[in-house]
Amino acid sequence: MKSKEELKDAFDIPVAERKYFNETIQINKKNILLSLSFLLLLFSISVLRFSKNSIQTPLIINNIQNDNNQDASILGHLPYNEISKEKLVVIEPNIEVHIDMSEALLKMRDDAKNDGIYLVFLSGYRSINLQKEIFYSLKSIRNQVASERARVSAPPGYSEHSTGFAIDIGDANNRETDFEVEFENTDAFKWLKKNAAKYHFKLSFNQNNKNVDYEPWHWRYEGSIEALKVFEASNRIK
Ligand SMILES: [Zn+2]
Repeated sequence: MKSKEELKDAFDIPVAERKYFNETIQINKKNILLSLSFLLLLFSISVLRFSKNSIQTPLIINNIQNDNNQDASILGHLPYNEISKEKLVVIEPNIEVHIDMSEALLKMRDDAKNDGIYLVFLSGYRSINLQKEIFYSLKSIRNQVASERARVSAPPGYSEHSTGFAIDIGDANNRETDFEVEFENTDAFKWLKKNAAKYHFKLSFNQNNKNVDYEPWHWRYEGSIEALKVFEASNRIK
């Protein structure tokens, strides 16, 4: 008969091997833990990268778009090229407009007249040079700095009037409201608000405009592809 101790030794793993066995398990555990941590690290990095890409890319695009718009405009006004002289027509003394809009404009005035409303054209095409005079002389007469003046008049090169597609309109029966916000109380303005869109005219500076004051007298024509292209940037912002 073998003693208890002898039996135990016979079935048990030898001490040396036991140590080796335990160590192997521990080393394997260590390896698995290391691999898992490494995988976790890789996973976290890729998740971070992915979220960075997916969140930041649209922001960057937005910033570029905003910058473009902000770079192009000055004191709330967008830049406009001067129309070439051959596209201008004189519709009455001192009033020149883009040939594409002249017909619609005159038709609008005639139709208004038939409704008992007398529209007066105050200002059509203005050259960049004339705009320069208006902007800088009025600025000094009124003792205003550029940003104040820009609320009521575009800086040269930034006026819709230089495109030939803008027209300032008054009421023949209320000339004291010419270029004044009070023009909005006239029958002429009420008629325009109701009917101008039929002739493809639109108010450029409405009450919600942030940088430029409300100008109920200033209308622009959007009835041709050329005109739509000219005002594309403006329509995108507003
Ligand atoms: Zn105007």
